Amino acid sequence: MWSFLETLNSNMLNLILFGPPGSGKGTQAENLINKYGILHISTGDLFRYEMGNNTPLGQKAKEYMAKGELVPDEVTIGMLKNKVEANPGVNGIIFDGFPRTIAQAEALDAYLAEKGTEVTALLALEVPEEELIRRLLMRGTTSGRADDQNEEIICNRINVYNTETAPVFDYYESAGKTKRIQGVGTVEEIFDKLVAVLDEVYC
Ligand code: ADP
Repeated sequence: MWSFLETLNSNMLNLILFGPPGSGKGTQAENLINKYGILHISTGDLFRYEMGNNTPLGQKAKEYMAKGELVPDEVTIGMLKNKVEANPGVNGIIFDGFPRTIAQAEALDAYLAEKGTEVTALLALEVPEEELIRRLLMRGTTSGRADDQNEEIICNRINVYNTETAPVFDYYESAGKTKRIQGVGTVEEIFDKLVAVLDEVYC
């Protein structure tokens, strides 16, 4: 029985959708879950849900999100694990906006290993900085997200990405799990590139 479960788990498709704010992770995650039937976990969405319900977790996250800073690792990792635990038996997971620090990456790897599975691949969407700022300001006009409406906060998020999150790419690069995808073009063109890469890593 145990080995049967282990076989199931090791067949999971676990993807990290990686890239700076505004690189299109959320949009592409939606397309990927439809095609592959896997669970989408966006830590940003989870925090916004908690904020919307004004829970203690939401109140804590709000302080950081409003400034474009990262929510502390222990809070984020705990929330992520709760979400995974609430969805047993899935075929795979797309992690969107997580891990954003090396500590989060290490915690994720240890947690998946406990479950007899691992990260299949990290897909990095590459988009030039001017394009990111343009997209985020545009999203801010319709999303209602306060952190998309102020250029200073947007720049802070991009700086935080460059200093704290970019090292996560190198961490998975040394494990041979990274793939780079040009994130400029139509949503369909970028999706086709992601699928082509996944055809290589997951047969
Ligand atoms: P974006 O990718 O456009 O920045 P997200 O919805 O992924 O949007 O994240 C919004 C905010 O939520 C981040 O700026 C940060 O404050 C918080 N956040 C999301 N994911 C994490 C994480 N893994 N670790 C710490 N903070 C996070």
